[in-house]
Amino acid sequence: MDYLTEGIALGVDLVILAACIKQYYKNKNAMAMIQGAPYLTINKDLKEIVETHPEKKLSYVSIRGTVKPLGRPIVSSNNPNVTGVVQLLRIKEHVIQRSTTGFWSDSERVVQEVHNVMPFSIGNKAVFVEVADPLAADVLDMDTISDVFNPTVPSVMDHIWGFFAGIRQRGVQSTEKMLREGTTITGIGELVYSQDSSMLRLQPPSNGAPFYLTNMQVTSLVKKLDGSKRNYKLLCILFGTIGLVIGGFIIRKYLRHKDRQLEESKRKQQLEESRRKRRRQMRDQNLPENQICVVCKNNPIEIILLPCGHVCLCEDCSLDISANCPVCRAPIEKKSVAYVA
Ligand SMILES: [Zn+2]
Ligand SMILES: [Zn+2]
Repeated sequence: MDYLTEGIALGVDLVILAACIKQYYKNKNAMAMIQGAPYLTINKDLKEIVETHPEKKLSYVSIRGTVKPLGRPIVSSNNPNVTGVVQLLRIKEHVIQRSTTGFWSDSERVVQEVHNVMPFSIGNKAVFVEVADPLAADVLDMDTISDVFNPTVPSVMDHIWGFFAGIRQRGVQSTEKMLREGTTITGIGELVYSQDSSMLRLQPPSNGAPFYLTNMQVTSLVKKLDGSKRNYKLLCILFGTIGLVIGGFIIRKYLRHKDRQLEESKRKQQLEESRRKRRRQMRDQNLPENQICVVCKNNPIEIILLPCGHVCLCEDCSLDISANCPVCRAPIEKKSVAYVA
């Protein structure tokens, strides 16, 4: 019985299905929370609103404003005219790799990833809200400042080495992304009034709700989440169906196997029955005392008991006696057919 292939397929399917279900609910919950978060305009009254709340805290709100560095901004490494507050520098290596199946396929590997962050705020005119811990955001939209791919020109030695090592360099991709100064972004998170800096601060929510720093409007963000929620729902249906189909296959295979086993044992039983019947018909009736079964005193002795070696039972009686030899009481380990002349 081999269910290995189906078992693996079902296992993989269930893992994917579970991941899709998790993502579906994550999007659904995020949508509900964002829709429930009040949108507050950044103005002079905002500080008062926060201060009147318990613990001087609004647990989940959305605000929108332009990015302003608190101090000197980061200057882009690729474009000196661009300044920002969060910078991502990533170096990715693209290779062609021989997989275990023997095929060559593209793959990429992050060689280095650096984030540079400096304190910043979002706001308008004179009122600003400091943004804390931007890298903890679930969504942090940044502009791509530069994205360069430098292909590797391989030498003959590289080709030979690559063939044996199973890996060939294709090139290196360097990317720079930045949250630029002056960009208008929507921040969704926890809004607190911090005593030490006497400033309003937007930070990752302590209740586990998602933290967003996005250049989208709230409505676009909700629409995007709704779209991805719908996609995950479709994936759930797809992988759920695949799971059911594989499950059906396994059940069908099992039932068929069971049926075959039952048929087989029935056939064996019938064969045995007919063999026994034939034997009964062939039995000699007038046998001397020492050649008849010690139990029924009727049939000829046909079975040898082991290990004691007594030939004392007919086949019919041997079916009922399997613990001890009726002659010497020795335990019976094995019975064999005895051919008595
Ligand atoms: Zn007997
Ligand atoms: Zn015996």
